[in-house]
Amino acid sequence: MSREPLDQSRKLVTELPGPKARELRERLETYVPKAVSPSTPAFVSRAEGGIVEDVDGNRLIDLGAGIAVTTVGASHPKVVKAVQEQVEDFTHTCFMVTPYESYIQLAKRLDELVPISSHTRTVLLNSGAEAVENAVKVARAYTGKQAVAAFDNAYHGRTTLTMGLTAKNMPYKESFGPFASELYRVPGSYPYRDGLSGEEAAARTIESLESQIGANNLAAVIMEPIQGEGGFIVPAEGFLAKVVEWCKANDVLFIADEVQTGFVRTGTWFASEAEGIEPDLIALAKGIAGGMPLSAVTGRAEVMDAVHAGGLGGTYGGNPVAVAAGIASLEAMEEEGMAAKATRIGEIITEHFTQLQKDDARIGDIRGRGAMMAVEMVDPATKEPLPKLVNNVAVEARKQGVITLTAGTYGNVLRFLPPVIIGEDLLKEGLSVITDILTDMK
Ligand SMILES: *Cc1c(COP(=O)(O)O)cnc(C)c1O
Repeated sequence: MSREPLDQSRKLVTELPGPKARELRERLETYVPKAVSPSTPAFVSRAEGGIVEDVDGNRLIDLGAGIAVTTVGASHPKVVKAVQEQVEDFTHTCFMVTPYESYIQLAKRLDELVPISSHTRTVLLNSGAEAVENAVKVARAYTGKQAVAAFDNAYHGRTTLTMGLTAKNMPYKESFGPFASELYRVPGSYPYRDGLSGEEAAARTIESLESQIGANNLAAVIMEPIQGEGGFIVPAEGFLAKVVEWCKANDVLFIADEVQTGFVRTGTWFASEAEGIEPDLIALAKGIAGGMPLSAVTGRAEVMDAVHAGGLGGTYGGNPVAVAAGIASLEAMEEEGMAAKATRIGEIITEHFTQLQKDDARIGDIRGRGAMMAVEMVDPATKEPLPKLVNNVAVEARKQGVITLTAGTYGNVLRFLPPVIIGEDLLKEGLSVITDILTDMK
């Protein structure tokens, strides 16, 4: 490819949205339902590294990575090459009809990487929600039980089953019921708000599991090791280990939903590693394939094999182009030391907001791990969430060319999920734009 590399700097040549973006927005609003409402006032023409270029020639700093997807950067050269080569060979056969080697190669790589010490097997799918659904199917087949427990502040997707596991009503569940049955919600660990130690929070969780569901009925407990959409909530130390220990002692499977936390995002291959836990099943997606739609369920072989032949699959699951991108992405992560880069990003963001917090008591909590960091904004006197402030900051940041995401059950969390290959200067510039906006909104 002989294209000029995309300059890694922010540059605004029009206001945002610019004239072309405004025109496209009008067409979007004509042909796409209101329910699909993009947040950034720009239409992308190209993206590379930590920069998204728009149709009006503006360059925006990307602090979202398409929601933790382009961890290796948009259009990473290795991914581009792998995709191009695969597209020329074949685009699709359906793995269930005519299999290909790359699927096995990726499954083998996941077996080497995931924090499950026994042999694993992997089924490849298309989306995070589809991975979660399949993990639940496998858990039910293996245990012969039906109930599944998810946590307060959980996010597991938008399909009928996963909506039921997701905690937050607006916008994910409102008017979409009834939800699937045998899904239960239990309290988790939110140290900033519940003040409980890991041990205390786990005792509360286990009490709920035992009194409201009963281990005899419970197929699986599913949890994100760091809750993403819920506000990047890192459970208190030891919480997850205690819950997993209870699961193992009670023949209940533990499913780690690492759709957002997986693939070096938090500074290790998977966030379960930092908790010292060994899940039975892991749901994976987002960062796996450099932006191509791909997801996976990797689990203990004995558990995965509980499902009858033909019981798992789908037309597109493990599409060869997505799989080629997945193999290339994982190689790039390893070769370029991206886990360490993620850790460094976490240090920079923590340092930045810790400094800022000294003069801005609205910054209630700074949390996360690696390149998955967030700040929770509150009324300093009451700890009441400040969702309006957070929304205003994000809207203004986007107008100034910094792609910023929000999160949180109360919508009062600014979250940072940059591609881990983002340059430090670019990251710091993005953070300083947000700082200036926060200062202006005091
Ligand atoms: C994004 C996400 C999902 C859903 O993934 P989709 O690809 O959007 O279906 C599930 N679980 C977690 C933790 C996520 O962050």
